[in-house]
Amino acid sequence: KDSSVCYTFDETDLPKLLPVRKPDSHKGTYGKVLMITGSSGMAGAAYLSAKAAYITGAGLVQIYTAKENRGILQQLLPEAIISTYTEYDVENLHRLLGWADVVCIGCGLGRTDISEKLVIETVKSTKTPCVVDADALYVLGRHMELLKGQEWPFVLTPHMKEMTGLLGCAVQELQEKRFEKIRTFTEQYGVVCALKDARTLVSKMHRQIFVNIAGNSSLAKAGSGDVLAGVIAGLMAQGLDCYEAAVCGVYLHACGGDEAREAKCSYSTLAEDLITGIGTCIKKTE
Ligand code: AMP
Ligand code: MG
Repeated sequence: KDSSVCYTFDETDLPKLLPVRKPDSHKGTYGKVLMITGSSGMAGAAYLSAKAAYITGAGLVQIYTAKENRGILQQLLPEAIISTYTEYDVENLHRLLGWADVVCIGCGLGRTDISEKLVIETVKSTKTPCVVDADALYVLGRHMELLKGQEWPFVLTPHMKEMTGLLGCAVQELQEKRFEKIRTFTEQYGVVCALKDARTLVSKMHRQIFVNIAGNSSLAKAGSGDVLAGVIAGLMAQGLDCYEAAVCGVYLHACGGDEAREAKCSYSTLAEDLITGIGTCIKKTE
């Protein structure tokens, strides 16, 4: 499974990749995840990413979201703490960032004034590792200088189109030179990057590139990427470093997609089935 350029995982690797659960533990042992997710009308992305973090084993998940999402999220996921905003509130943001062990920002966050401010301030001032996805990547693409000299590790999870926004190149050029592009990008910015596609790549400075060969077209559906962001954050909350969480998360998410296809079929799998599939994969390792 190893070559000098890249490596892959198979199902025998998953038990070795997952964080250890200890009998003598409590919810604090498994970390606090702050999800800055879900603008008005996008509660689903907040729900899916938060639930994915819980199903992967995170101890406590708090969702910071637009006020109108409170009721629905509380109903859909009673295990989550819900905090809301109606306008940009920097003090509250700092209080929440101070609470978190891991931050996950961007899923369904929207492209508004408030979301832009939330992303810039979070990336600037977070004191914890951070997963940056979806709309937060859009903001980051316009403010890449924010990553320079950053003390805290970041995992970026762009799909191909989002990656072109970060690189400023065309999709076709990225498709043709994806290994070279992701390697240069992660060396330049010191981040971990999961470049999502049918065959996702994960890169970090001075490391071989991980190539995911699990998964199937049931993952090509709305909500799938939100689940991945939650899985990676959930793994980081349990003590995996950014890179370990990204490679394990990408693989686990894809295996969850394979389970979901078995249970349904590649046409009919929903993101919710994917979350169930991830739980099944974890169970098989126990
Ligand atoms: P997003 O576009 O942000 O919703 O993310 C989609 C997720 O599904 C990523 O993790 C992709 O790697 C995965 N995915 C999408 N299409 C496929 C496919 N045809 N085969 C395997 N994985 C896929
Ligand atoms: Mg996405």
